[in-house]
Amino acid sequence: MSGPGRVTLVGGGPGDPALLTVAAVEALRDADVVLYDRLAPHDTLPELAPNALLVDVGKRPGHHPIGQDGIETVMVRHALDGAAVVRLKGGDPYVFGRGSEEVLACHRAGVPVRVIPGVSSSVAVPAAAGIPLTHRNLSHLFTVVSGHAPLSDEEHRHLAGLGGTIVVLMGVGTLPSISHGLLTSGLAADTPVAIIERGYSETQRTTVADLGTILHVAAAAGVRSPAVIVIGHVVAFAFDGDAEASELLARAERLGASA
Ligand code: SAH
Repeated sequence: MSGPGRVTLVGGGPGDPALLTVAAVEALRDADVVLYDRLAPHDTLPELAPNALLVDVGKRPGHHPIGQDGIETVMVRHALDGAAVVRLKGGDPYVFGRGSEEVLACHRAGVPVRVIPGVSSSVAVPAAAGIPLTHRNLSHLFTVVSGHAPLSDEEHRHLAGLGGTIVVLMGVGTLPSISHGLLTSGLAADTPVAIIERGYSETQRTTVADLGTILHVAAAAGVRSPAVIVIGHVVAFAFDGDAEASELLARAERLGASA
């Protein structure tokens, strides 16, 4: 490889290689080095990036082996050495992906950088479970929030007052706080909630309940990260006519009655 090196931040989509963009596939094909982590589609990387050194920077919740600073240092160093570096990220690089920090690190080091957007899990994972985020006369807006840290009371009030659909990423750990916060802010206890785990994998699973019962139902089901949480009437709409989901909703109602 010979300079000048460069960095391309690539949105890898929600995990299915078929949901990579054409630009993403081209960037991977031309890469000398690919830095990837858990949520990026990595099973097919050897075929997608046949000439590249593949580096697992292994970011997991609460466990960052080389840390964000470490990732940025390695990324910039390879580019300064003359490599075409792809930083492959899950979903879209600019949706809770720390992509902007990595772009700034490139700017600081004088490394050319560009960003290829990706299909964000916030939209795609609900779709994988048959849930539209908007539907005429049912929801004309959606709000995507990070559940990484608990929201403030004021944020819960605003969210509850907005209407439309609420999508929470990184929200499994803070589910008790957000469900409580929305309930005490006046969002109806019978508002449908879906939690979609591991979207686009063979073990994708959807758990449906309502705001008043989701904590019990999620705990009973052993729901784990990564998952996208969808709160709003579009959830019930999506499962209209689906016997299994109707059963879950009925169970949620029974649990709610006995809680
Ligand atoms: N930039 C990413 C989001 C990064 S935050 C995007 O645009 O999709 C990481 C969170 O995304 C996870 O905790 C989870 O809430 C969600 N997520 C990403 N991929 C997912 C998948 N395949 N299935 C379920 N949730 C996913």
